[in-house]
Amino acid sequence: MIALTPLFSCGKGIHNRLNGHQERVIKSELKNEQKKSGEKIAADNFDCHFFSPVPESVFKKMEGKSFPKDCPVDIKELTYMKFSHYGFDGKTHTGELVVNKAVAKKLTRIFHQLYEAKYQIEKIKLIDEYGADDEASMSDNNTSAFCYRKIAGSTNLSVHAKGLAIDINPLYNPCVHYKNGKISKVEPKNGQAYVERAANDPRRIKKGDFIYKLFVTNGFTWGGDWKTLKDYQHFEYDPEKE
Ligand SMILES: [Zn+2]
Repeated sequence: MIALTPLFSCGKGIHNRLNGHQERVIKSELKNEQKKSGEKIAADNFDCHFFSPVPESVFKKMEGKSFPKDCPVDIKELTYMKFSHYGFDGKTHTGELVVNKAVAKKLTRIFHQLYEAKYQIEKIKLIDEYGADDEASMSDNNTSAFCYRKIAGSTNLSVHAKGLAIDINPLYNPCVHYKNGKISKVEPKNGQAYVERAANDPRRIKKGDFIYKLFVTNGFTWGGDWKTLKDYQHFEYDPEKE
């Protein structure tokens, strides 16, 4: 694990900017860590996959949205990831995620492997670009992780509130609710066309496929394996299970 220096601490008045120098330090620390572990994660501008403490510029976007006022989460528990991914156009794009630091290294490795396999993920933007509106982000097929919110229709906090869950290509992998054996709700609403899982489309996550295996071998649970609802977009990690 690279040293995740707390660059700033929310609510305690310590706000240091992640400047170019610190960014370079983080990259070189990551490179050293990769050398030690034998992993090959290039850190150049084209094939770049790295993570750092949440920079102040990113925190400003999150404040009042995915990180609401009075949010009890310690910002030091969260990590900012920036990396290359393949889009539906088959070209390289840059993705951004905020995740719990307990999964930062795992997810960096997973996204590097997805990139090497040219696995297509349409958009990976901060949910704050959608005003932290999950339905808006999902219906735009945007992949996201941290968002301090309750489970829809419940008072319980979502695993996303800890940054321990990620939703991949959510339009193509909707969350399907059932009542008396019949579909009662599909999230996002425009995901109805993608409830059918048999289609020969690698972007529709299926049990045993490449992306499923990648997450499961890294200790994640898949929402498509649940019984009462099928959350095909959702992978979550429980650090207490390790
Ligand atoms: Zn989810």
